[in-house]
Amino acid sequence: MLCNNKNKQLKLIFLGPPGAGKGTQTDIVSERYSIPAISIGAILRDAIKNQTELGKTAAKYVESGELVPDEIIIDIINERLSKDDCKNGFILDGYPRTKTQAAALDESGTEISLVINIFVDDNDIIRRMRGRRVCSSCGATYHIKYNPTSDNKTCSRCGGALIRREDDEPSVVESRLKVYHEQTEPLIKYYEEKGILRTVIGQEKLEDTTALTLNVIENYLKG
Ligand code: AMP
Repeated sequence: MLCNNKNKQLKLIFLGPPGAGKGTQTDIVSERYSIPAISIGAILRDAIKNQTELGKTAAKYVESGELVPDEIIIDIINERLSKDDCKNGFILDGYPRTKTQAAALDESGTEISLVINIFVDDNDIIRRMRGRRVCSSCGATYHIKYNPTSDNKTCSRCGGALIRREDDEPSVVESRLKVYHEQTEPLIKYYEEKGILRTVIGQEKLEDTTALTLNVIENYLKG
């Protein structure tokens, strides 16, 4: 664990298309700086698996690659961010994804330190998604080539079985990319105008993207 500069908190957002590596970088940064990672996608997948009311509502959106309605997502995030463990920092993976969500985050008075935008072009996303696997138990994300486990069948963190997410099927990936370009990409400009956006070009090798990401964070902490 690294200590944060005392005067600076890390309240981070990871932005970028599906499959760019937001979840993986979030996990690494979360561990390194000891700040909680909040993945709305993981919260929704858990709810779907456990068949809660939220899960039943969210399933049709998640499975087809659409966004779950803003009002549902905003409530979940506001509640999560009000918890004590978020007071000194957090990472939002996959939130906000619409201008309404970004406005709600501003209205909640949450001061974001940095928005790290991971850029990967659509063709690379489609190629990478074919090899993406997730742990059916703890949700950790892997790639059979770029971030493999010893056998690509079991999770190195908890031993759970690795599966392909239903929404990583090629036809769903296309819808998710369309949704990303229409609804989420405009947030790049939104945060650029606030002066807090930093873009990292997603690299083939996970550790190269991590090095660029940590560089952005360290520059912020030093600055
Ligand atoms: P992810 O794991 O971030 O790729 O998210 C998986 C799915 O969860 C998305 O395709 C959406 O259906 C839903 N989802 C995740 N984040 C959001 C969000 N901020 N707003 C609405 N829906 C979301």
